[in-house]
Amino acid sequence: MVHFVGAGPGAPDLITLRGAELLRQADVVIYAGSLVNPALLEMAREDCRVYNSAEMTLEQVVAVMDENRSGEVVRLHTGDPCLYGAIREQMDELDRLGIPWDDTPGVSSFCGAAAALGAEYTLPGVSQTVIITRMAGRTGVPEPESLELLARHGASMAVFLSAGMLDKVQESLLQGGYAPDTPAAIVYKATWPDERIMRCTVGTLAQSGQEAGIRKTAMILVGGFLSGGYERSKLYDPAFTTEFREGTGSCG
Ligand code: SAH
Repeated sequence: MVHFVGAGPGAPDLITLRGAELLRQADVVIYAGSLVNPALLEMAREDCRVYNSAEMTLEQVVAVMDENRSGEVVRLHTGDPCLYGAIREQMDELDRLGIPWDDTPGVSSFCGAAAALGAEYTLPGVSQTVIITRMAGRTGVPEPESLELLARHGASMAVFLSAGMLDKVQESLLQGGYAPDTPAAIVYKATWPDERIMRCTVGTLAQSGQEAGIRKTAMILVGGFLSGGYERSKLYDPAFTTEFREGTGSCG
């Protein structure tokens, strides 16, 4: 059986209990070597065979899964496998070959980055929407989802896979309508020991990244949620009545 497992954003203790147990039992681990923290591999058995998928094609990955179909194979992806994990094509191949699989979620790096900043994406009165996206690069992005068009929403934004194109990111965000002084942050290797945080604005994104020498493994966050102002939540307002608590008055 093949187990897709989310490794989490970096810190080895941010893998789920289920993911860790699958890793401990695995006969074979195929890990996304460009981003998964190798410290996680220490959880695997000593006789576990380990493959780094950064050096492999889809065909080679699936061939290893096929050769080991009678054993337990863990396919370890960074963060949560459902975001930019290229899992669908693997699952479809496994279905075609009649190899069973399951999927264990993980903590995505956009959550790890928010934790590093102590930030909440969905602040009342600021934004109730998180846009998860990337800048078009060698992998294209459908035209209606261009960064410029998405920027028009002014929502909280987490931009993956784009730290090597910060000048283009900045330009698109500005063209889309974010004011140059909109708060932004670059979080490099969130939750890893060498994590770094660069707080800046949309207008200084490229310069901040350049000064810090950041080209990859970074999350670009944009939006008013990174500044001070917001409204108090209704949920914990003394005046607000909920299913579980009687409020003292009327509240929107
Ligand atoms: N499935 C992963 C994303 C894989 S795409 C997830 O859920 O996080 C790879 C991109 O994720 C990187 O280019 C970077 O933008 C982001 N990323 C992955 N790990 C990161 C980390 N620890 N800190 C900041 N960004 C990270």
